[in-house]
Amino acid sequence: MAKYTEADCKLCRREGCKLFLKGDRCVTSKCAIEKRPMVPGQHGAAAVKKKPTGYSLQLREKQKVKRAYGILERQFKNYYQAAKRSKGATGEVMLSLLERRLDNVVYRLGFGVSRGQARQLVNHGHFTVNGKNVNVPSYSVKLGDTISVKESDKNLELFKEIKGSKIITPKWLEVDTKALSGKVTALPMRDDIDLSISEHLIIELYSR
Ligand code: SF4
Repeated sequence: MAKYTEADCKLCRREGCKLFLKGDRCVTSKCAIEKRPMVPGQHGAAAVKKKPTGYSLQLREKQKVKRAYGILERQFKNYYQAAKRSKGATGEVMLSLLERRLDNVVYRLGFGVSRGQARQLVNHGHFTVNGKNVNVPSYSVKLGDTISVKESDKNLELFKEIKGSKIITPKWLEVDTKALSGKVTALPMRDDIDLSISEHLIIELYSR
């Protein structure tokens, strides 16, 4: 599977905001955005001073979302096109579709510390959806779906640490940490997505 190979913190510094790619470290003073809030590379400091306009703003917004969800261009464009074909507002539907990815849901349920780790856990086959094994990170969850840690994996150290702990999820998800499972109680709406995203810029970019 294709993936980003650049260091995670560099991606955040390039986008000038926290993308929360490294789990707990992202909320500590060790976060690179806190320590060096400038674009990486030789001309990074100069790039901060330059105010982005038009196309560059739109491009950066798209890169930010792609990097936050850890997906590449072709797949991202597919989400845009699927959203465009839908009846709702394209930007909002696109974000909702991204939120519904199984790797994101595993992350939101607190079973992975970052989307990257959650993707790896899904890839390694640690989860079931409605009792069936699913190892596809892009799998789109539906209303009422139950996502669980596979019975045989519940004793893995990583999951034992989560068992019984308190996890705050977005309001469209419900988690039962004793059972190591979660449920999709509603479909994610724009307000449920906490990343600061101006999705209209992405739509403008693709409409060029
Ligand atoms: Fe690195 Fe996380 Fe901070 Fe981003 S938010 S710079 S991934 S520590």
